[in-house]
Amino acid sequence: MAKGAKQHRPPMFEDAPYSPPSWASHLHPLPRRFISLGQFPTPIHRWNLPNLPDGTEVWIKRDDLTGMQLSGNKVRKLEFLMAEAKAVGADCVITLGAIQSNHCRATAVAARCLNLDCFLILTSNRTKVDVDPGLMGNLLFERMVGAHIELVSMEEYQIYGYEMLGEMLKEKLLSEGRTPYLVPFGGSNSLGIWGDLEEAREIEEQVRNSTCHADGFDDIVMACGSGGTTAGLALGSHLSTLKARVHAYSICDSPEYFYDYTQGLLDGLNANIASHDIVNIIDAKGIGYAMSTNAELKFIKEIAEATGIVLDPVYSGKALFGLMRDMKKKQGKWNGRKVLFVHTGGVFAMYDKLQQLQPLMSKCNRFQIPKSISGCHE
Ligand SMILES: *Cc1c(COP(=O)(O)O)cnc(C)c1O
Repeated sequence: MAKGAKQHRPPMFEDAPYSPPSWASHLHPLPRRFISLGQFPTPIHRWNLPNLPDGTEVWIKRDDLTGMQLSGNKVRKLEFLMAEAKAVGADCVITLGAIQSNHCRATAVAARCLNLDCFLILTSNRTKVDVDPGLMGNLLFERMVGAHIELVSMEEYQIYGYEMLGEMLKEKLLSEGRTPYLVPFGGSNSLGIWGDLEEAREIEEQVRNSTCHADGFDDIVMACGSGGTTAGLALGSHLSTLKARVHAYSICDSPEYFYDYTQGLLDGLNANIASHDIVNIIDAKGIGYAMSTNAELKFIKEIAEATGIVLDPVYSGKALFGLMRDMKKKQGKWNGRKVLFVHTGGVFAMYDKLQQLQPLMSKCNRFQIPKSISGCHE
C-alpha cells in the first residue's frame, strides 16, 4: 500500500497490516497490525450550542458513536492493543481502572468479541470492597459479557498503583498457566495512541473530502483522562495538514501532570516534540474525578435539551463546561473561530448520577384518559 493512502479497514473483528499516514511514518515503534473494532469514520456535524461568542462555530465529532457496548474513544486504542494481544498469542487480557471506567467496559466487550477472557482490576471508591458492586452503568455490560472483576480498595490503589496491581494479576495468571496480555490504564501507551493518531488522519480525510467543514478547524477540543487521546490528537493535528490548536480539559489530574504525562507518550514514539508546543491543557476537574457538581449536571441537561446531544458526566460534560466557561470569559479569543469538539462517549456512567439528576428533570404527567374513550371498556 502506498504510504499515506487511505487505510484499508478489514471486516469487524478481523485484522490487517497497518500502514501509517505519511506524516507519521517517521515515528517509531510503528504498529504492525490492527483489528477493526469501531464504526469509523465517526460523523462530524455542526452543533448549534446556545450562547456562543459572535461568529464562533462549534462542530462535534461523534466518537460516542464508535459502537454500542463497544463505544467511545477507547475503541480506537484497542484496535492496536488487541491486535498485539492476539499477535503474541494471549488467551486473556487484563486491564484496570475506576469502578465506572469506560475503558474497562470497552476492553471487556472487545475481548469477548475476539474470544479472549478479560480480567479487570477496578478500584472500588464508594462501596465497600467486599460488597458486590452491583450492575450500575458500565458494570452491567462488563458483567454481562463475563469479565472477571477483581476489586481493590482506594488504599490499595494508592499504595501499589495500577501498574503494579496489573503486574501482580499477570503473575498470578501466568502461574495458573494462562497467557495474559496487560492493556495499560486507559489504553494510553505508545501503541494505544496510534488509534488517536489515526483519528487525526480520519478528521483530515473528512475535511479533505468535505464530508464536514471544508475549510478545516481552528481548534480541536476534548477531555483528557489518561492522556492518550490528547497526545495522539495533538501530535496528529501538528504533523498532518489539520494544524488546529488542540485544547485538552483535564478531568482528573493537574495540567502540569498531563504536560509531563503526554510528554512521556510523545517521547515513547520518538516524536521529538514538546507537549507544551502542541497542546493547551486546562483544568476542568471540578470537585474531583467522576464527581459532579449540580451546576455541571444542570449544564449537561441544558445542552441535551437544547441540542439533543447527551454528554457524559465524567469527561465530555466537564470538557464542554470548561470550554463554554472560557468562551464566556474570553469572548474575543474565540470570536470567529471554528471549533471541533470531540465527544468521547461514556454515556453509561450517567447511570451513576441518577439521584443527582432526578431533581433536574421535569415532572411526568398522569395521563388523563378522555371519558368518552374509557367508557368503551365497560
Ligand atoms: C477515557 C475517556 C476520555 C479520555 O481519554 P484519554 O485518552 O484517557 O485521555 C474521554 N472521554 C471518555 C468518555 C473516556 O472514557
